[in-house]
This record gives sequence, C-alpha cells and structure tokens, in this order.
Amino acid sequence: SIPLGFFGGIGAASKRGILVKGGNYLEALNNLDRVIFDKTGTLTEGNFEVDEVIAAKGYTKQEVLDLAAKVEVHSNHPIAQSILAASSKDINAEDIEGYEELSGQGIKAKIAGEEVLVGNEKLLSKLALESNRYKSEDKTVVNVVVEEDYIGSILIADQIKSDAKEAIAELKELGIKEVVMLTGDNKIVAERIVDKLGLDSYQAELLPNEKVKKTERLLAQSSNDGKLAFVGDGINDAPVLARADVGVAMGGLGSDAAIEAADIVLMTDEPAKLGEALEVASDTKRIVW
Ligand code: ADP
Ligand code: MG
Repeated sequence: SIPLGFFGGIGAASKRGILVKGGNYLEALNNLDRVIFDKTGTLTEGNFEVDEVIAAKGYTKQEVLDLAAKVEVHSNHPIAQSILAASSKDINAEDIEGYEELSGQGIKAKIAGEEVLVGNEKLLSKLALESNRYKSEDKTVVNVVVEEDYIGSILIADQIKSDAKEAIAELKELGIKEVVMLTGDNKIVAERIVDKLGLDSYQAELLPNEKVKKTERLLAQSSNDGKLAFVGDGINDAPVLARADVGVAMGGLGSDAAIEAADIVLMTDEPAKLGEALEVASDTKRIVW
C-alpha cells in the first residue's frame, strides 16, 4: 500500500506542473543517484534554424534545401521543421516514394525515381559514402545525397534552454552524483553543451538503441539503492524512458509515446522542474515517515 502522504506529494507536484504517475516514483526520486539527459528538445529548445547551406558543384543552395525539404515533409523531427521553414514555400512532395525514417540518422526516400538521403555522417558512412564532407564548429550538419552523390549540407543551430545550466547545478546541490548527456548529434555540438552546462560526461553520435544499451549499462552499475533517471523529449526516447528507474518526459514538446512511457511528465518542458520534483519528493518523505 502507498502511504497517504505520497498522494499529497503527487498533488503538490501537479500544482507545479509536474505530473507524477505514482507515489513509488517520488520514493525513487529520494534515492536518485544519477540523471541522464537527452540533448535535443530536452537540454536544448529543439527549435532548429537553418544557419547556412553548402552546395556541391553543379547545385544551388536553394536546390539543396528544396530537395531536403521534399524528404522532410513527412518527418515530425524538429530538424525537419527548420528545413521546411527555410525552403521554397511551394514544395511539391507528391512524387516521393519508399519513405523511410532512420531514427538517429535521417531519412531515405525516392524522389522522381532517384534515391535521396538526408541525414548525418552516420547515415552516409553506413552506406559507405564518403563522409566528413563538412565539419561544423557547433552546428548540426544535415547532408543531402542523391543517387550516392553528395550534393550539399545544411547547417542548423539550436539553443540551450535558459534554465538548463541552473537545472544541472541544482541537481548537483541536491546530491546527484552524476549528470550525463546522451545524444545522437555530433561530438562537437555535444562537447560545447557539456562545457557550457557543467555536465559530468556525455556520449554523442548514438543511435536510439545505443542510448538504451548505454542506459542499461549505467543501470547495471548502480550500487545498492541508487536510482537512475532518464530525461527526454521523447523523439525516439520512449524505450529508454521505460527502462530507467524514473523516466521523465517533456510534456509540451514530447511525443504521445514518450508521455505514455514516462513515469513523470514535466508539463512546461523545463529541465529545472526535475530539481523541483526532487524537493517535493523530499518534503513528502518528511511528511510520510
Ligand atoms: P538527440 O539524440 O539529440 O535527441 P536524435 O536522436 O533525434 O537527436 O537525432 C540524432 C541525429 O540524427 C540528429 O542530430 C541528425 O543528425 C539526425 N537526424 C534525425 N532525424 C533527422 C531528420 N528528420 N532529418 C535529418 N537528420 C536527422
Ligand atoms: Mg531527442
């Protein structure tokens, strides 16, 4: 049976925009040791904007953008929205066939009978295409390939959420031993964020299933009662959210699957709400015991 006090705790949390799906999760928060954050949409806004377009010989920047946009029309990834916003407004995506979204990598589809790839280096290297065409200082690089020919790259930028730094500092103050970031994005982007936010460690260029494996490895390392939370916006995160001791989803940006898989939902998408949840949990414990 759940002690009555935990119902009070759930109510107190919900008043702060923190949805807790059971008293046992408040209890787990009181024993939290480690927190893993996803990057895009979790520590960053997930509002990408196209910053620069690079076109290979024989192509214009507009052609690179418009071809990518045709493929991205069917994706609900934040990257897709930024490319569509920067492309010509009259994109005709009717001649698209064999659309396949490769999570953590990009998209593959046929346009007018030609195979088009839109995605990161991992996607290119998997197909044994020459990668490293363009290395960005701090931007996400989306490459466009037509029939195995590289035709250009789209550089997009995202912003760190305004409360992300204080959120991590707060978790440390509350006794969290390790705060980690896992991302599918490139190492350079990841490193810059790790430095800015004071995270303990990170791993970049991970596929969604590699995030699950990495989380499982961290779970297996857990000493005695230490619990592990995973915080994500839910785009490809549902499996990790389900696996962690405490899965925390962003309620606004998050996908339905993530909100369903999560144990706690932060309605305002602010990472700092996790620290608040820890405080509510700690107050609740004081009332219960
Ligand atoms: P994160 O781990 O930061 O939340 P994702 O796992 O959603 O990111 O995506 C990882 C990477 O995969 C992106 O940084 C991008 O390079 C590539 N990618 C994913 N979806 C798309 C898409 N729709 N178009 C182009 N690239 C994509
Ligand atoms: Mg994500």
